Amino acid sequence: MTPARSLCVYCRERPIEPSWRPFCSERCRLLDLSRWLADDYRVAGEPVDADSTDSPDPGQTHDADGNTPNSRYARHNHDHR
Ligand SMILES: [Zn+2]
Repeated sequence: MTPARSLCVYCRERPIEPSWRPFCSERCRLLDLSRWLADDYRVAGEPVDADSTDSPDPGQTHDADGNTPNSRYARHNHDHR
């Protein structure tokens, strides 16, 4: 499936060096790693931020109601009463 000789996964210009697989050099390996870390920070930052903005409201509702896991359902239920 994988060709014996493919291009470096980072620069996609030079062939892969066996000692630095799947990269062509240590430089590309490090650059890819740093890109991964930067990506990880960005990806991890967004959901956490969205979750923390969403969290306080359901948390308070859940705490006030005591036994309702869904805040929307809780509000609806409360409206019915
Ligand atoms: Zn490369």
